[in-house]
Amino acid sequence: MSRRTPPKGLKPSPKAAKAGPARGGLTDLFLVVLTVFGVMTRTPVGGVVTWAVDVARGVETERPSLIATFTAGPSARLLAELEAIFVQPEALAGALGSAQGAPGDGFPEPYRTAARIALAKSDGPADDTLRAEVAALPAEERAIAALDRLYQGDVEEALEVYAVGAEPRERAIRRARQVGEDEPSRYATHRAFLPDAQARAARAAVDGTMGLAKALTLTWPIAAPHRVSSRYGYRVHPVLKTRKLHNGVDLSAPIGTPVLAAQAGEVEKAAQDPLNGKFIIVNHGHGVRSSYCHLDALHVEKGDEVTAGQVIADSGNTGRSTGPHLHFTLRVGRDAVDPERFRPELRPEG
Ligand SMILES: [Zn+2]
Repeated sequence: MSRRTPPKGLKPSPKAAKAGPARGGLTDLFLVVLTVFGVMTRTPVGGVVTWAVDVARGVETERPSLIATFTAGPSARLLAELEAIFVQPEALAGALGSAQGAPGDGFPEPYRTAARIALAKSDGPADDTLRAEVAALPAEERAIAALDRLYQGDVEEALEVYAVGAEPRERAIRRARQVGEDEPSRYATHRAFLPDAQARAARAAVDGTMGLAKALTLTWPIAAPHRVSSRYGYRVHPVLKTRKLHNGVDLSAPIGTPVLAAQAGEVEKAAQDPLNGKFIIVNHGHGVRSSYCHLDALHVEKGDEVTAGQVIADSGNTGRSTGPHLHFTLRVGRDAVDPERFRPELRPEG
């Protein structure tokens, strides 16, 4: 990311660095400001405050989610799985490669591959009989074998039953129906009626697998040949010496290059601000979102349904940007992940 890069050669003032407490009021003020700055940028409390301020202002923030680091949940768990699986491209190729020869019947792709990853360390199926049935299989095949038996045409249903069992799911559906919900059998509709522990288990299995499947089948947002001008990851600010996350990838592209929706979903935001310029956020469901910044022209509005690969905008150079490029972010849960890990070019036969 280049938007906050100061002119080359600029160094911190030696005077500021040497100032001691004995210098009086001005120094105290300097130290207070420094402390507040440190708290706001380096601690979970600061993360919550700055995140809340950004949300209130409607800003698409560049900040890492510091809260997520301290939260154990499906999102953190899924990220840990992703770290383990996707550290090396060969591991990604292996994970997807093994999916190619999967039987046509049973739990379908791409959810099959996603479930193999997301459920790798799960406790196994909730149902005792089914758990006993798959217990003899190698650990990495148990979840898929259980899902093959549970699958009756509805991926979410199979995952939910895997996590909580059939009976708790039926109870939640009955309660949803009692309060007049339209489609009580849909997971999204009745999940609020699951008891807490089961709701957590269902979320990890259903959202974890479905979200990962969406990421695994991502469409790259620029089809034209282009250069990645800045990758995802932490970098040290040359002057402030603070570590800062570049939460997406910068794809160098001439103004007017078609920008494609990375996955099917609903446009959550199509707006403009001084930092991101014209930008779009698409909600793909199951905690997965993608955003596209510094656009020149928007072709969709908030609330629009988009398909994967649909042209949603022209790339540009708006907002705090030092040259024409698309800043593309992929979020799984609250966390921005490296979109390049999901680049279709990395897939063995994709
Ligand atoms: Zn960027």
